[in-house]
Amino acid sequence: MLPKHDAVAAIATAPGRGGIGVVRVSGKDLSSYLIPLFGQKLAPRHATLVPFKDLNGLIIDHGIGLYFPGPHSYTGEDVIELQGHGGMAVLNLLLQSCLFLGARPAEPGEFTQRAFLNNKLDLVQAESVIDLINATSEQGVRSATRSLQGDFSQAIQSLVVQLIELRMHIEAALDFPEEELPAQDIARQEIKLKGIKSELERVFDLAKQGSILREGAHVVLVGEPNVGKSSLLNRLSGEDIALVSEVAGTTRDAIRQAIYIDGVPLHIIDTAGLRESQDVVEQMGMERTRQAISKADMVLFLQDATKVDPSASRVLEQIPREIPKLHVINKIDLLGDLPHIEIRDGIEHIYVSAKTDVGINLLKERLLQMMGWHGESGAFMARARHLESLTKAKRHLDQASTNLSMPELWAEELRLAQAALSEITGRFSSDDLLGEIFSRFCIGK
Ligand code: GDP
Repeated sequence: MLPKHDAVAAIATAPGRGGIGVVRVSGKDLSSYLIPLFGQKLAPRHATLVPFKDLNGLIIDHGIGLYFPGPHSYTGEDVIELQGHGGMAVLNLLLQSCLFLGARPAEPGEFTQRAFLNNKLDLVQAESVIDLINATSEQGVRSATRSLQGDFSQAIQSLVVQLIELRMHIEAALDFPEEELPAQDIARQEIKLKGIKSELERVFDLAKQGSILREGAHVVLVGEPNVGKSSLLNRLSGEDIALVSEVAGTTRDAIRQAIYIDGVPLHIIDTAGLRESQDVVEQMGMERTRQAISKADMVLFLQDATKVDPSASRVLEQIPREIPKLHVINKIDLLGDLPHIEIRDGIEHIYVSAKTDVGINLLKERLLQMMGWHGESGAFMARARHLESLTKAKRHLDQASTNLSMPELWAEELRLAQAALSEITGRFSSDDLLGEIFSRFCIGK
């Protein structure tokens, strides 16, 4: 993918009314836009109060004009920002003026794509821009910022550098095949390889934590009416966070709500939609619920401590065996029982009271543990794509370890591991992958 040079423009703020709205333009040379737009030249990187003019030179609005001549800009090209009043009519007129001067409407993510193509950001950083925008918790913001400021990229880069050094050493030996590598030398390289592997494990773990923050887990909630499902969800999400209904659709769709524990999103799939029905539309809804359940990460089976639940087992039968299950026995306050965990028939039962809050922290801890979460500290915002590449790199390094007596194979595995890591930062990514990544951005970013 080569850098583009035509100018692009977009409204960069969210649609709707707001105190301020921003139109942004990026292109190789925007110096000719300044006089028609503002009636004056702008000092680079200075906020200047200016009139904004339309196609006929009539004033549309007054606001702050900013001019960032490339390469010292977000995209690495010339960038102009018009910060006006945040009404859609005003902003559309400002955008029209920019288009009249020759810019075309920007595609979603095109500003960040240009920043990537002009080497202002690598791919991990570009992806974390959208993760930061989409972050829904403080922990999510922190880990996206860590990726954006380059912590994840640096960790990958450091692994790549170590791999290159090791490869150089091994490949130098390959150039002199008649001289066998001394055992001492092999041992030294093996120690280095071990070091790289454990560093890779550490990076994988931090990336895994970031991906949990980003993706969360899909949790199926099973339980009869009145066992306390809503009460439990409210307890888990905390008083200060309102429940968010994620999938509007029809009421017959799988109902999902997102709750946050320690900033980690849990997407709750209600199984109310699994009850038997003759209604065709309702059956379609049940099918959708079933599909959502088949992809779930875990099942929470909620029961009333004071009652035997005759029908819930029918719902449980419809849930694939391999999905981890946690039985939650609620309302222990009515029996005067204490919170605890019990393993019965190989299944974990956890005793709580949603009403009195007893055992809820224990349940939160278990849920997070089951997801593999052990804290945000140092986590990088990461995606499935990154984890796949890290896993691929790990596999090649493991393979390298088993081929220590054959330097050719060893060198090849190291090369493949390096290529897998480089895919993360975008050094060796295909155009298709890049197009796919940037198309998910919003317009104006
Ligand atoms: P759902 O139908 O499964 O969503 O159940 P709700 O959350 O609406 O709760 C049903 C009833 O049980 C309500 O009156 C709750 O106040 C009550 N309840 C829920 N959890 C507890 C609990 O831990 N202890 C007691 N004593 N009552 C509870």
